[in-house]
This record gives sequence, structure tokens and C-alpha cells, in this order.
Amino acid sequence: MHQSERHVVVIGAGIVGAATAIELLREGHQVTILEPGEIGGDHAASYGNGGWISRSLVVPTSVPGLWRHVPGYLMDPLGPLTIHWRYLPGLLPWLWRFLHSGSTIERVGRTAAAISGLISDCAERHRKLAQEADVPDLLQDTSLLHVFRKRSDFDANALAWRLRQQNGTTWRELDQGQLSSLEPDLDPRYTFAIAVDGSVCVDPGRYVAALVDHACRRGATIRKGRARGFRIKSGRLQAVQTADGELACDRGVIATGAWSKELVRGLGDRVFLESERGYHAVIQDPEIKLKSRILFTDGKLAITTTPSGLRVTGQVELASLRAKPNWTRAHVLRDFALNAFPGMPKTLPHTRQTFWMGHRPSTPDGIPVIGSASKCADVIYAFGHGHIGMTAAPVTGRIVAEIISEKTPCIDPGPFSARRFGGGAHPQ
Ligand SMILES: Cc1cc2nc3c(=O)[nH]c(=O)nc-3n(C[C@H](O)[C@H](O)[C@H](O)COP(=O)(O)OP(=O)(O)OC[C@H]3O[C@@H](n4cnc5c(N)ncnc54)[C@H](O)[C@@H]3O)c2cc1C
Repeated sequence: MHQSERHVVVIGAGIVGAATAIELLREGHQVTILEPGEIGGDHAASYGNGGWISRSLVVPTSVPGLWRHVPGYLMDPLGPLTIHWRYLPGLLPWLWRFLHSGSTIERVGRTAAAISGLISDCAERHRKLAQEADVPDLLQDTSLLHVFRKRSDFDANALAWRLRQQNGTTWRELDQGQLSSLEPDLDPRYTFAIAVDGSVCVDPGRYVAALVDHACRRGATIRKGRARGFRIKSGRLQAVQTADGELACDRGVIATGAWSKELVRGLGDRVFLESERGYHAVIQDPEIKLKSRILFTDGKLAITTTPSGLRVTGQVELASLRAKPNWTRAHVLRDFALNAFPGMPKTLPHTRQTFWMGHRPSTPDGIPVIGSASKCADVIYAFGHGHIGMTAAPVTGRIVAEIISEKTPCIDPGPFSARRFGGGAHPQ
């Protein structure tokens, strides 16, 4: 191995780990991917997401005034954002920071600017990755239509649109006539829409598997197993510890999504990370055809055409990593889709529907954690991507590879540091 080449263990093979492995190989490092599950499998958030890749995803979930709705979130188990009573005590430290991060327009503005810095060229980065991995067909350029029942519903959400505009998103307004000629199958109760350009990944699970295959063709190896911790000596990483023994390495990357908190223990940082559980329903052989991906602002959910059918994604459920899925939430998504298009039947046979639940790895401020661990700079964090993990994975991988190669990162990693949560020791 050349002096500057490192043996890097990338822990976790979701979209973030997959993209990171490729960027590390590009820099000439030796890469081992450590993953206990099936690559591209449905245990990971990267399998079942909405696939939307767009620089418009800069608005965090927590915005001024949200706290007023918290009692409603506790009372309505099927609303678009739900907090489980049972898990409330454990969630309080995260929840407090979540509400605080969105408590003023200035704070939300800073968050949007940090996210925007990260994802401004997300579509180009994905296009390059998909071409290299020989799966360009999995990405499609399309419009994201935010549909509203009436224009005043759009006006009522002025802050979000102002943040998008300030951070480089452009859009077209569509009146009822333009909307119905673009999407004739949509219920005419939607009379106004905003069209934002972007890309969609039509099969995120397959995409992850293709990226990992590509990494393996370039020399990465896969090790099946679960990381348990790190062996560190005098501040330098010696090995990643797994249930089946140690993996000796020079650097380790924690790309374990919502499961990352356990691995951070002992690395000198206090990280606030919870699973924001989300769901999808897939309706096979739909009776309707969509040209765009549609985001329903009244239902807070999105609908995308995928090779297996219409995928309806949404819901934010604050529970725990271990809580059982509440499939009624996925049924809510399905029923919304059946009602939003008059051409769809009112009920579906079981054979035409599938459901999924996944864990968004969410920080309270909606900003991912990227950068070196405080107690051991050889361990690099790459997790906490919440609602924007598909979009931000390639640039995250790039930043991580540049940190490991001791190059100046293409984006200042300052806003993504784990130190922002207040913990942190100086690297030794
Ligand atoms: C319903 C829904 C819709 C979404 N829509 C979008 C969207 O339209 N656009 C967008 O940009 N984002 C979207 N997201 C968010 C996006 O899916 C996530 O941010 C992203 O998938 C996170 O990727 P990840 O690689 O960090 O985590 P994951 O995909 O969860 O992967 C983590 C991997 O780490 C592995 N792992 C865990 N623990 C260990 C361990 N100890 N050792 C080794 N491996 C381990 C797991 O097995 C898993 O494979 C959505 C999410 C949901 C739930």
C-alpha cells in the first residue's frame, strides 16, 4: 500500500456507506464494507424511501410555531407526525433540541443554508455515480409537483418557500388548467401546484446494491457482520470490533444510519439521534399514470411511479428503533392515494399492495453528522441524514474521502460537526 493509502472499514451499507465506499476507492484507499444485512435490503432506510433527489430539500421539519402542535401529535396516532406516549420520556432530550432548532426564523435559516451548501449539486453527483455503476436508468429527471387544494395554502407556507428560494430553488406555478393537463388523473380538488425540477431514484434498494457491486468491482470487499465498537490505542484506531472478532484497519467510517448512536459511545461525542420512522405503501399495477412525482401538501406524503407500482411515502413517527411497526399508518398512505385519483378503485386486493417501515436517522436540527470523532480522528462520522439521505449521500461520501485523504473538503464540514451538540473532547 502507498504511504497515503489507508485501509478503511466502512460500517453500514445503506446509501451513505455505499457512496462513501466508492469515493474512498476513487482516492486510492483499500475499502472493507461491514454490513450485517442483505445489501440493498429492506431493513435499511435506503431501501424504501421516496427516492427524491433535489436541492429543494433544505427546509427542516422543525419550524417556528411547531411546538403548538405537539399536544396534537401526542393525541393523534395516525397523523402525519406522531409521538408515542410510551417513548416520550426517552425522547425528551431530542425533542427539546428539535423544537429549539426550529424556534426562530434565524435558526431555521442557518439550517437551510447548511443543508443547501451540502446538496446544491446533488443531482449531478448522483448522475455521475449511477453512470459509473452502470445503472443510469435508475435515476430519472422529473418534476416534483407540490399540489395544493388552493393557492392560499401555498401562501400560508411562505417561510418554507422563501427558504427554498434563498437557497437556489427555482419553480414554476401551475394553475388548475395547467395542473390538470400535466396530471389528468389527479383529483380536481387540487387547483394549484408548484413544479420543482429534480431527479428521482425509482428503485433505491436496487441502486444501493448496484453501487456496492460497483465498489466491489473496483476492489472493495464485503464483510458480513455487525460492528460493536473500536479498539483505540493512544488515540489511534487499531481495529473495528465485531461479534466475530476484530477487523484491523487505519480508519473507520460510521455510516450506520439510525443505529449509529451505540457506536459513537466512547468516542468523546454526545450525539442526539433518533429514528423518525417512516412508511411506504406500494400499489401494484395502478390504473393511473403519473408524469411527475407528486407531493401532497395536505397529506404530507409523496407519490412516485416505480417499477413495482405507485410508491406512497410519508409519515413521521417518533418511537424507538425496537418498537413494532404500526401498519395502520401505511394503510393511511394507501388510502390517501386511492382517494387522490378518481381513476383508482376504492379498495384493493391484498395481492396488489405491499407495505414497509424504515428508520430515518434524524438529528434534532435536521443536519447530518459528518466529520472526525473527538477522541479518535481516525473514526469518521457519516450519519444522521434524516429526510435527505438519498440526496446528500454522494457529497457525504466525497467529504469523508477527502477528510481521510487529508485534503481540504469540497464543503466546509464545520456545520456538520458532532461538536455542535455540546459534547466533544479534543482529538488526541
Ligand atoms: C419514508 C421515507 C421516505 C424518504 N424519502 C426520501 C427522499 O425522497 N429523499 C431523500 O433524500 N431521503 C429520503 N428519506 C431519507 C433516506 O432514506 C435516509 O436518510 C437514508 O436512507 C439514510 O441512509 P443511511 O445509509 O444513513 O442509513 P440506512 O439506509 O438505514 O443504512 C444503514 C445501514 O447500516 C447497517 N448497520 C446498522 N448497524 C450496524 C452495525 N453495528 N454494524 C454494521 N452495519 C450496521 C444497517 O444494516 C443498514 O444497512 C426517506 C426516508 C423514509 C423513511
